[in-house]
Order: sequence, then structure tokens, then C-alpha cells
Amino acid sequence: MSRPTHILDTALDAVGHTPLIRLDKVAKQEGFRCNLLGKVEYTSAGGSVKDRIAKAMVLAAEKEGKLIPGKSVVIEPTSGNTGIGLAMACAIKGYSVIITMPDKMSLEKEATLRALGAEVVRTPTAAPWDSPASHIGVAEKLQRDIPGGIILDQYRNPNNPLAHEYGTGPEIIEAVVSTPPSSSRRSTQKVDVFIGGAGTGGTITGVSRAIKKTHNANCIVVGVDPIGSILALPDTLNATDSGAAYVVEGIGYDFIPDVLSRDIGDVNCWVKTSDDEAFSAVRRLQRHEGLLVGGSSGSALAGAIKWLKESGEGRRIAVTEGVNVVVLLADGVRNYMSKSWFLDMTLHAEPTPLAGMISQILAPK
Ligand code: PMP
Repeated sequence: MSRPTHILDTALDAVGHTPLIRLDKVAKQEGFRCNLLGKVEYTSAGGSVKDRIAKAMVLAAEKEGKLIPGKSVVIEPTSGNTGIGLAMACAIKGYSVIITMPDKMSLEKEATLRALGAEVVRTPTAAPWDSPASHIGVAEKLQRDIPGGIILDQYRNPNNPLAHEYGTGPEIIEAVVSTPPSSSRRSTQKVDVFIGGAGTGGTITGVSRAIKKTHNANCIVVGVDPIGSILALPDTLNATDSGAAYVVEGIGYDFIPDVLSRDIGDVNCWVKTSDDEAFSAVRRLQRHEGLLVGGSSGSALAGAIKWLKESGEGRRIAVTEGVNVVVLLADGVRNYMSKSWFLDMTLHAEPTPLAGMISQILAPK
């Protein structure tokens, strides 16, 4: 389970095995006494948590004889990261790839996909999921008309949640269990809370099952859903905002994917987050923890902070030393460097006092 140190055969062997890192500065700023921990997925070979399911879906399809090198054309509707994982796997294994992706997804994702040899088709972001114009509708049309076309279908493929049940979840458990408490740092050595965003819902469903089935049946799993999406329960949480546009990529949908289990036994409760909350949490992770995470990681942290401050159970956990609260940080900011939310907090930001001093020193005299 731990990070391999030997020579790897291909980049697919460098999928997953990601670190669990303390978010001590953020915890301290919030006055939390629990252990706030980030599962940092951008260190995976393709740069996100979705590499894991891409690899699992391709390996399973090969085993079932559904993929033929030189013949099969893998087609997938995605917000980009599953596409990147698939394009990476298919570059290595010799399958052609077409990715359909809504317009709002970043240029960086499209460029990465093209670098890996994929064709990319953009679709209107506002198209409902079941319209022929949506990324799902266009992928289905292409599959019907392209010889060898196959959709592995992350929204329905059981290997999506299973990749997290057998990979992401056990890695988190291993890191927590194998870190002994010390005199300065208490730990239950259990995963007490897991918090993550949901797109297909594969991550939260699979990680929850791993933790609850094999490690801690009482773990509290909190789903994070952007304002404008309808995945959260109870439905009243979504009532006022359905259809509102949001900028964060990779989480939230206008339908409930089959692989997302909203059973209370899998996801105990939900928190809604705004773009502003997400991006200011991204900035905190970058500036205070040195973590180059993307937008949905900010949503997950913002959701975690909200739950720890605003729910009764969360408030109790936040002040309990040794309790382990794991937040899933799904991808990295290099996916988003041309996005205005990122430029606004970096290249277009107000000059710092240090920048003023530098200009003064370097000004021609
Ligand atoms: N964050 C990002 C950046 C993603 O690309 C995705 C996948 N759409 C998620 C979070 C959510 O993962 P999942 O599909 O497993 O719910």
C-alpha cells in the first residue's frame, strides 16, 4: 500500500499511493483541537484522485475482453480528470481516446488530454445531462457511430467506487493506524470523520465503505456539494439553488449518478459550499500549508470547516484532541492556472508590502 520505492514498469504503477498530510495551520487558525488531515491526490501520476478509477476501469475492461489494442476507441464524458487518467492509461496501452467535456472545464485539462493523445469535444455546460447536447449525450452519439467505440462509464461502472474501496480508503486507514500517538500528539488511531466532495460520488461511496466495513463502523462521512448541484440530502438543502451556475470543477451534478450511494449508512450527512468559500480555502491550503490544490479541494476543506463549526456533532469533534478528521483533496492547482479565480489570487492580486519594497530598491535612481 505504501509508496513504491523500486523501479516501476509504467506510469500506471504511480497512480495513487498518495500522502496523508496534517493541516495543522488551518486547524490552529480555526481553534480546532482534532487532527485535521488532507489526503493529497494531486501527487498521483495523472494529477488527481480520478487516475485510480481510470486505471481500474481499463484493467477490468481488458480482463473482460472488451478492449482491443489498435481497435478500441475509449470514449468518456468527464469533467476532465477521469479523462486524463483514461488518456494516460490508453497512451500506455495503445487505445484511442475521445473525451467529451463541458465548456466550463479548464483549458489546462484540455491541453493535458491532448498531450496524452486524446481527442477532446467540448459541450455546452448548461445542457441538461439527458439532452443529446450534453457531454453524456455527445459521448453516446459518438459511441453509436464510431467503430470500436466503448464508454467505460464512470457514472455506472462498479469499478469506480471499488477503486476507492480497495485503494483510496485502505491507504487512508493505513496512514492513520500506522501513526502512533506521541506525548505531544494524541490519536484515536481511527479514521473518525471523512469529508469529501462528490461528482460521480465514487470517491465518497468507496472510501466510506472501506472505512465502515473494515475499520470503523462509527466513522462519520460528510459529503460536500456545491450550491447549484442537487446531490445533497435532505433535498431541502438544494431547494433554493438548483440550476445556479458554479465555477468549481469536478463536483456536483444535475442528476444522481448510479455509483453515488446517498444511503445514510454510506454518507451520513451533507454540506453545501459556495465558490467563494471554496477558493478562499484553496488559498489557505496554498499559503499556509504549501499544498498546491485545486478548486474542489477548497470546497472539501470549506465544507469540513463548516461542519466542524456549525453542526452539533462537528463542534464536539472539533475540540476533541486525538480525533482524526480526513479531508479529500482531489486534484492540483496546475489544472486551473488560467482560470480567473486563480489569477485573481496570484498574478492579478494586490502587490504585497514586500513587492513595494522590491520596486523601491530596484527603481532606477
Ligand atoms: N474533485 C475533482 C477535481 C474531480 O475531478 C472529481 C471527479 N469528477 C471529484 C472531485 C469528485 O470525485 P467523484 O467523481 O469520485 O465523486
